[in-house]
Amino acid sequence: MNSVEPLLEGFRRFQQNYFSTEQNLYESLRHGQQPATLVIGCCDSRVHPPALMSSQPGEMFVVRNVANLVPPYDAANQHASVAAALEFAVLSLNVERIIVMGHAGCGGIRALMQRSTAVDSALSRWLDIAAPARDFVYRQHAGESGAQQIRRCEQASIMVSLNNLLSYPWIAERVDRGQLVLDGWYFDLHDGALWGYDAASKAFIALVCPLHNR
Ligand SMILES: [Zn+2]
Repeated sequence: MNSVEPLLEGFRRFQQNYFSTEQNLYESLRHGQQPATLVIGCCDSRVHPPALMSSQPGEMFVVRNVANLVPPYDAANQHASVAAALEFAVLSLNVERIIVMGHAGCGGIRALMQRSTAVDSALSRWLDIAAPARDFVYRQHAGESGAQQIRRCEQASIMVSLNNLLSYPWIAERVDRGQLVLDGWYFDLHDGALWGYDAASKAFIALVCPLHNR
């Protein structure tokens, strides 16, 4: 069993080095939050959105799930955690931007591509949200290596989630009115680059190049 002490020690460091020195910030946060951005990221321990964007507490509302997926709108779903978070972020917090943030080396997408999850498990049912991305990659990029196909599926699944976001009526309305922007980003944790989907070229383009390319 791993010890809880490093976690408590980490919290003490946060308390001493951050909480006690950022009193103005925490005084204002005591009254509520006004994040302008919602990020939908993966559960993966290597992909922590606020750390990746050097974001302060209060600036970023974050939903994390396996493979950073957004299920399609389903008013009948009684326990829809992603929908509930979207509803709160969009309708109550009035976020102005939603970023679906995928990443390289995603175990969820690899499991989807390799069909390695237990049949009819919660995980396989969840990953099925991105099945259209997997089918697209196998159809359009059949001759490529497994690693290339997984990378393509990591990016194609971001597009599936962006399309699914537009199936929520109140998201589509706000996007149409110019009150809400949807972005698809891809963090390459192999070289540290950040990619973003570019609607004009219908491709992912480098938003931030790796350090060694600058
Ligand atoms: Zn992942």
